[in-house]
Amino acid sequence: MNTLINVFSIIIAVLLSGCQQQRLYKDTRVLMGTFVEVISPEKRASKIAFDEMQRLENLLSKYKPDSEVSRLNAKGELKLSPEAFFIIKRSKDISQASGGAFDITVAPLVDLWGFTDRKFKIPQDTEIKETLKLVGSEKIVLNDSNNVVKFSFPGMKIDLGGIAKGYALDCAAKKLKDAGIKSCLINAGGQVYALGDKFGTPWMIGIKDPRRVEPTEFITLENQSTSTSGNYQQFFIKDGVRYAHIIDPKTGFPAKAGLISVTVTAPEGLTADALSTAIFVLGKEKGEALAKNFPQIKLMEVEEKTAKTQ
Ligand code: AMP
Ligand code: MG
Repeated sequence: MNTLINVFSIIIAVLLSGCQQQRLYKDTRVLMGTFVEVISPEKRASKIAFDEMQRLENLLSKYKPDSEVSRLNAKGELKLSPEAFFIIKRSKDISQASGGAFDITVAPLVDLWGFTDRKFKIPQDTEIKETLKLVGSEKIVLNDSNNVVKFSFPGMKIDLGGIAKGYALDCAAKKLKDAGIKSCLINAGGQVYALGDKFGTPWMIGIKDPRRVEPTEFITLENQSTSTSGNYQQFFIKDGVRYAHIIDPKTGFPAKAGLISVTVTAPEGLTADALSTAIFVLGKEKGEALAKNFPQIKLMEVEEKTAKTQ
């Protein structure tokens, strides 16, 4: 089902209402560069989820110098843990499925535009052209027999910012299930996983325009994840033009395909996360064509032409 909603941007509002005797515990922590909120009838749920997400941040973050990703980026070749190898392999698959719209090798472009150190700048065309030579998932060589990942060109780097949170939510949900927890909602900066239900009914997520008081759309989730990608989270404006953190790997410029945000709901957080990024790059028409290849997902897009501001 494709729904077009006329809002400028999306934030997630979790509805905590319910029977007064049925208590929900809520805990928040900054992890993976965002606020992570855990809501569950079980008090122990938050520690389990936070610990697992912290473990994955330590493994996959490009901002942590000791992470496997940072060490691979520094060396250009590394034997990885099976888990880090798995996520890079899935990233390559999604890159291929999306015709290169999703591509973790955009890291040097993300750096070039200043999104890594937040020193934003518009690069010279020649710099973009040079940097584009380092981009392309086909330039990542994977050796399945020993989990060694090798870049084909010096200077290549990967950035798992478009997929790692979704994967981390899947892992956290698994840890919670293994611990016997049947009901929990994790909201990691708009990337949500709903484990089980809330006192017998599905978790309900309100998606709203932050300039409005009430949510404009509601999604019910049960053992599902939802992810929103947009150009309103990390961006800078120069001479009236908005430059946002999702880069089109074909042009080397921030993606401008006519969408303001894309929300994907899927059984897996990893899929929801990677596809919302890919569809944001592709735009409405190509994005919807990609979504058709994933029958279990639901897609909501907000088009630029419905917005009144940059
Ligand atoms: P998301 O918020 O999940 O859409 O991910 C955006 C983040 O993914 C950015 O901040 C970058 O770290 C990274 N990224 C940017 N462009 C792409 C792209 N085309 N494919 C994959 N990851 C990207
Ligand atoms: Mg994503």
